[in-house]
Amino acid sequence: MLKIESVNVSYGAIRAVKGVSLEVSAGEIVTIIGANGAGKSTLLKSIVGLEPVVAGRILIDGQDCTTVPAHKRVELGVAMSPEGRGVFADQTVRENLMLGAYSRKKNTVGTEAALKREFARFPRLKERQGQLSGTLSGGEQQMLAISRALMSEPRLLLLDEPSLGLAPLIVKSIFDAIRQLRESGLTILLVEQMAKQALGVADRAYVLETGHITLEGSGLDLLNNPKVKAAYLGTH
Ligand code: ATP
Repeated sequence: MLKIESVNVSYGAIRAVKGVSLEVSAGEIVTIIGANGAGKSTLLKSIVGLEPVVAGRILIDGQDCTTVPAHKRVELGVAMSPEGRGVFADQTVRENLMLGAYSRKKNTVGTEAALKREFARFPRLKERQGQLSGTLSGGEQQMLAISRALMSEPRLLLLDEPSLGLAPLIVKSIFDAIRQLRESGLTILLVEQMAKQALGVADRAYVLETGHITLEGSGLDLLNNPKVKAAYLGTH
């Protein structure tokens, strides 16, 4: 579904992503783990078209999308829940969700039906639909960010650090939601610093270090890899 070939992304003189190649097949959960500043968010932004690629190619369903604008990539079925959630604080929950529906293709279920589906997925959002999003708790904002991405009915969902800053119980519910999304047939590329949980849910995983992929394997392989254990799991 997604193929990235030798992608480079720079911010001026800073080379944030250096020759990264990876693949995500339909129905998989693939995770990218890595330390702060490794280039994870930059890589996701380049996939959705929010950061330009200076070299390499991004293919969605075999189609070269390297220079396709972001809104067109949404139409191709790619959506992202960004790091820090990016919800519009002074708009209500319902208004934020409606914005997520903006780029949907016309021939899918109606917006009201999509809203209903998201409210069934996260009943808390239904209860809070009239509340200003900036006053939601961190966990609620994360649910909203994921739901808003799902309003565009993506086939590939990119999740940037969904567990960031959340209490353990909320983290668990977010990972439960990720599992359910996979069961519903969605393909997911998940960026996480919570390496243990991310590798536990992932079919396959990549380790990104200072812009390079240094390891790849099944989620289980990397969970048991001594280097991963030492660097990311806090165990030896
Ligand atoms: P974190 O887990 O801390 O979010 P990350 O792996 O997502 O880190 P990125 O946010 O992709 O890392 O950052 C990769 C590198 O690019 C870092 O050195 C960062 O300082 C730099 N960088 C990111 N965004 C910009 C920007 N807008 N301008 C300049 N440099 C940037």
